[in-house]
Amino acid sequence: MDAGSCNACEWECTALTNPVYDIQRFGIDFVASPRHADALLVSGPASRQMELALKKTYIATPEPKLVIACGDCAIDGGIYKDSYAVTNGVANVVPVDCYISGCPPSPIKIISGIRQLMDSLTASSNKK
Ligand code: SF4
Repeated sequence: MDAGSCNACEWECTALTNPVYDIQRFGIDFVASPRHADALLVSGPASRQMELALKKTYIATPEPKLVIACGDCAIDGGIYKDSYAVTNGVANVVPVDCYISGCPPSPIKIISGIRQLMDSLTASSNKK
């Protein structure tokens, strides 16, 4: 979900599905509706204009669900930090499970962050 980004983070996310990065090989893909999602990959500083949409999208995602803050803006507002127009990060609107830094983060960094989150979930479910 784009929560007010400059769109550069989206370009890197779009590259994830090309033949070079091929994120589907890990069983990960983008879906058109939060109703079909296991996780929300959110970019942008969570602008005030997108705050309600982000909350609604989070509510529309079925449990169990994860939220990944993708990019420096999503982490703490990034270059827009402390602007009147932003909430200073996704975690100020919805709970976040994983942070991926970068402005924008490279496709490799995004894949690495998602894989680390998946591995930590596998490790914690194996302990049970
Ligand atoms: S982190 Fe950088 S590239 Fe991503 S939305 Fe913010 S300014 Fe744009």
